[in-house]
Amino acid sequence: MSVSENQGFNTRAVHAGQAFEPRTGAVVPPVHFSSTYAQDGIGGLRDGYEYGRGTNPTRDALQEQLAALEGGSHAYSFSSGLAAEDSLIRALTRPGDHIVLGNDAYGGTYRLISRVLGDWGIGNTPVDMADLDAVRKAVAAHKTRFVWVETPSNPLMKITDIEALAAVAHDAGALLVVDNTFASPYLQNPLALGADVVVHSTTKYIGGHSDVVGGAIVVNDAELAEKIGFVQFAVGAVSGPMDAFLTTRGLKTLGVRMDRHSDNGQAVAEWLLERPEVEAVLYPGLPSHPGHELAKKQMKKFGGMVSVQFKGGEAAARTVAENTSVFTLAESLGGIESLMNYPSEMTHASVKGTELAVPVNLIRLSCGIEDVEDLIADLERAFTFLK
Ligand SMILES: *Cc1c(COP(=O)(O)O)cnc(C)c1O
Repeated sequence: MSVSENQGFNTRAVHAGQAFEPRTGAVVPPVHFSSTYAQDGIGGLRDGYEYGRGTNPTRDALQEQLAALEGGSHAYSFSSGLAAEDSLIRALTRPGDHIVLGNDAYGGTYRLISRVLGDWGIGNTPVDMADLDAVRKAVAAHKTRFVWVETPSNPLMKITDIEALAAVAHDAGALLVVDNTFASPYLQNPLALGADVVVHSTTKYIGGHSDVVGGAIVVNDAELAEKIGFVQFAVGAVSGPMDAFLTTRGLKTLGVRMDRHSDNGQAVAEWLLERPEVEAVLYPGLPSHPGHELAKKQMKKFGGMVSVQFKGGEAAARTVAENTSVFTLAESLGGIESLMNYPSEMTHASVKGTELAVPVNLIRLSCGIEDVEDLIADLERAFTFLK
C-alpha cells in the first residue's frame, strides 16, 4: 500500500516505501544488491535505474520511509551521520560562509566543521542555543548560512525552541539545520516547527539495534533537495543496500521502541534524582529541567537519554561507568540494549580542552528497552562501589 500524510506515524513507519513486490507478492520488498541495471537500448532505463551510486531501490525505499516520517518532501540516505552532514554542508555552503552551532554539539560534528571544513573556508561560532540573543549576535557577525542545533543536545540534554530559532535564522537569511538524532522523528518533527533541514545519525534510534551505521538528510523544499541529491550522487557517500535494508527494518518499529525508551528513561531519571551521590540529573522529562515545558510542547515524549553528574567528581563518574553489567560501557546510543558512556573520554574526547568540553563528573545513559527494574538494579549495584 502507499501511505498518506493523514495516516498515523506507526502506519507510515511500517508501510512507506514498502509496497509488496509485484511479481511474487513478497510482502517484504527484496534487497537489491545489483550495482548496475540493464538498459533497453542505449539510455533505455527502467524506471530511471542506471547505476547503484545514483539510485538503488532498497535505498529509495528507505528514503521514502524517512521523508514520510519526518514530514519532508525528500530524504537522502548516507553511509554515516557524518557523511550526511559533510554532504549537506558541501551542497549548501561555499567558502566564506559561516555556521553558528550549539556549544554542546556532538563532538564529531564540531570536528567535521572546524577541522575538516574549516580548511575549505567554512567558519564557525559555537554558542549557547538556549540564549537567543547570543545566537542573533553570532549570526549577524558573519555571513551565516546555517544555524545548527541539536535538541535535546548531546550529552547535556539542553532543549532549544526550534520555532523561535527558525525565526532568528530566517530573519538573517540563514537556514536552520536540526540534528534530530536524539529525539528521532517519532518524538519530534523539526520541519513542522520551521526548520529547513533535518539531519540524522540513523546509527542511533532509527536503526535502533546497534547493527548498522548510517545517516540521513530530510528537507521539504525542492530546490534544497536538488542540490543535496546532486552531492549525494556526485560524491557517493551513500548507504549500501544491506545497510539501507537494516535501517528500514529498524525504522518500522521506531514508535514502539521510543515509547519504551521514554518510559525507561523517565523511571531511571526519577530514581537517580533521589540518590544522595548525584549532583544533577539532566533529563527533559523531569519538571526540574529548565527545558521541561518547552520539551513538552515540541516533543511527544522525552526519550531514553539521561545524563547524570556526580558529587564525587570524575572518580565517581568513572566508577559507575565501569561497574554496570546490564548497561554496557560503549560509545553510541539509541539501540535496544542499554549503553553507558563517559563522554569526556569517549564520544566527546575530540572536544576535550575546547569550549565544547563535557564535565568530567558526567556519565550519559542510553536506556534500552530491557525491563526497567533490571536497569535500576544494575545502577544500584554500581552505586555500591561509591562508598
Ligand atoms: C552519532 C551522532 C552523529 C554522527 O553520526 P555517525 O553515524 O556516527 O556518523 C551526529 N549527531 C549526533 C547527535 C550523534 O549522536
